[in-house]
Amino acid sequence: MSTPSIMPTYKRLDVSFTHGEGCWLYDTHGRRYLDALSGIAVCGLGHAHPAVTEAITAQAGKLLHTSNLYGIPLQQELADRLTRAAGMDTVFFGNSGAEANEGAIKLARLFGHRKGIDKPAIIVMEGAFHGRTLATLSATGSRKVQAGFEPLVSGFVRARYGDLTEISAIARNNPRIVAVLVEPVQGEAGIRLPPPGYLEGLREICDANDWLLMLDEVQTGNGRTGRMFAWQHGSAAPDVLTTAKGLGNGVPIGACLARGKAASLFGPGNHGSTFGGNPLACAAANAVLRVIEEQQLCAHAEQMGDELVRQLREALASVPGVREVRGKGLMVGIELEAAGTGLVEDALAAGLLINLTGDNVIRLLPPLVISADEVTQITHILATLLRNRAA
Ligand SMILES: *Cc1c(COP(=O)(O)O)cnc(C)c1O
Repeated sequence: MSTPSIMPTYKRLDVSFTHGEGCWLYDTHGRRYLDALSGIAVCGLGHAHPAVTEAITAQAGKLLHTSNLYGIPLQQELADRLTRAAGMDTVFFGNSGAEANEGAIKLARLFGHRKGIDKPAIIVMEGAFHGRTLATLSATGSRKVQAGFEPLVSGFVRARYGDLTEISAIARNNPRIVAVLVEPVQGEAGIRLPPPGYLEGLREICDANDWLLMLDEVQTGNGRTGRMFAWQHGSAAPDVLTTAKGLGNGVPIGACLARGKAASLFGPGNHGSTFGGNPLACAAANAVLRVIEEQQLCAHAEQMGDELVRQLREALASVPGVREVRGKGLMVGIELEAAGTGLVEDALAAGLLINLTGDNVIRLLPPLVISADEVTQITHILATLLRNRAA
């Protein structure tokens, strides 16, 4: 609920939660809801996961923050763990997805300047979402996000998502390009999957032109698509990879990772963050990555995601108004023929938390720890809602 003292930047639903457990949230009236959104792909381990609670309460009793003027062993431990899990060499820690992408954009520009390109440009995609800071909203492919905040940051060239031919054409015509920034699956645009081989195709073009391939895995990372990072479904290892959302299970943390020639671009004074990689956030993220690995949650997410898509396709096959069910792991979209007005509210009333993107796509991002029974409950509630709407 909005109060006059909070800037009204969000359209909020009329519900507040007091606590949660696993895939369930409890509101101020004691009603419980099945959470098929995870706070927008953040709480991958579900709510109140004991390993995260333990890690942050123990750390809170010792040390929250010291600044990056000193060594932070927990940050070093996380850096080792995360670079290994992502197949990258180095990492810079910030506090959000947008900040991680700011780091990537700065890396690309520095890479360009080192090559003697003084006005470097980055290829970004139609429909992309990269954040709300000035540089990242400029990189974002949505007029709604940009309108009113001009002048935009320059140095971005737009291409169609999934189209390699257009990228090759830009390569022939624009000598200022230094990098491609792309989401392996577009989240905010409505769970849009590129054609098979797309990232590998981009990798080839980047290699041929000495560009950096930069993947925004803020939403797709940390097990969400059924691999620790979505690029690991294929062979296109990026030069730069950003992540955030699921990394701290709700404790704010973002990371900009780099590999090979991009790994040592930043030197002392090139970048910084007061809070980035502080002991509390790193304790949370270390616990998250440890649990994802120990409990093989990537494989579980892939299995549950496949099952969710299969069940939804079957249950919605004959329901009018449903165009397509698609997904990768536990990143699932149901595209409708018309705007899904009122659907989020109806689902809430039925005890299910979902979200709409691009007006007509129901987005499901349940916790990675979801059970087969909970998958069936999501299908059942949604099928009932969509059948009633069509009737
Ligand atoms: C959410 C998101 C961001 C922005 O992350 P914030 O933490 O809100 O700044 C950037 N890129 C993608 C792909 C996202 O899904």
